[in-house]
Amino acid sequence: MKYQLNPKIANLEPYTPLVGEYKVRLDANESFYDADPTWMKAFQTELNKLDFQRYPDPYCQSLCKAFGGYYGVNPNYVTVGNGSDELISIIVNSFALRGETVYCIMPDFSMYAFYGYLAECNVVEAQKGPDLRIDIDKVIEEVNVTGAAMVLFSNPCNPTSLGLKREDVRKLITSVEALVVLDEAYMDFWDQSLLSEGAQYDNLIILKTCSKALGLAGVRVGFAVANETITNALRAVKSPYNVNTISQTAAELLFRDPATLQKRTQDLIDGRKSLQEALGQLSMKYPVLEQVFPSSTNFVFIRCAKANEIYQKLLERSIAIRQFNGYLRICTGSPEENELFLTALKEILEEK
Ligand SMILES: *Cc1c(COP(=O)(O)O)cnc(C)c1O
Repeated sequence: MKYQLNPKIANLEPYTPLVGEYKVRLDANESFYDADPTWMKAFQTELNKLDFQRYPDPYCQSLCKAFGGYYGVNPNYVTVGNGSDELISIIVNSFALRGETVYCIMPDFSMYAFYGYLAECNVVEAQKGPDLRIDIDKVIEEVNVTGAAMVLFSNPCNPTSLGLKREDVRKLITSVEALVVLDEAYMDFWDQSLLSEGAQYDNLIILKTCSKALGLAGVRVGFAVANETITNALRAVKSPYNVNTISQTAAELLFRDPATLQKRTQDLIDGRKSLQEALGQLSMKYPVLEQVFPSSTNFVFIRCAKANEIYQKLLERSIAIRQFNGYLRICTGSPEENELFLTALKEILEEK
């Protein structure tokens, strides 16, 4: 008999981010900054010293120390992944059993539900209300009623840009038996991190990434912070050499210069604020921009019934943003890029 793909994967499509050349890219929430020249020089020097014929350090010890230094976390409680995406996959596949319930709160980062599906879990995609905020008491109740094994969510949230206060997140962690996977990919842009207490709970994993505020999306490095038991399990189930030597080196060097990281993060916050301000103004003049959500991230989220049309017209002008069903998501670029985007958007809104 001829081999056939199993029904679970037969109809999946490869993930296709926007490909092609665009003048302005505000679609992937990356940092607009090029690599810092001082970092680049140090990286090139280190590259010459690497033992390419040897396997990398499976536990990324130097990198964990550097990460721990920057974020105030004990390196013993850190596991490194090939992007936090890989960690999400590992966590869902190993910490949830087939048929167990994995609870997500939509709209949120789509990979949680996707890996839950691949792991043959019962994925519950609870829906946020029209304000797109998380109702923590409702989540706690549903997680407990469904007997979910795991809750995954991003805070602040991609794509809504909204944040949940630390106190609410603590309440969730201490009110459920489920493992809470708290994705703080954007927490560099806000001040409600639980990282410093990440190892204090029995049921918490916090995820971080080098891809957003830290500006190294191409290097593919993410982190999981959890207590000793969970960290040991994570290190046991991941593939031994999941993070290559080059990426470990690149990421470690980044943390040598916390002042630059902090300055750039602040610039991204400032850029987002002015973008948000400008979009808020536009929404008063053009009601098609129905609602500009307050942001705790480096991007702005807008409710807009004509999202797809506006998205297409921007693409024609070589400006890339993200559109979801009825929403637009725009991450901050450089001041020049934001200006090009706003000018094009105004033109498009005028046409209507
Ligand atoms: C961008 C993003 C990540 C980062 O993924 P990497 O694999 O580390 O690049 C993780 N979680 C959320 C919610 C994101 O938006």
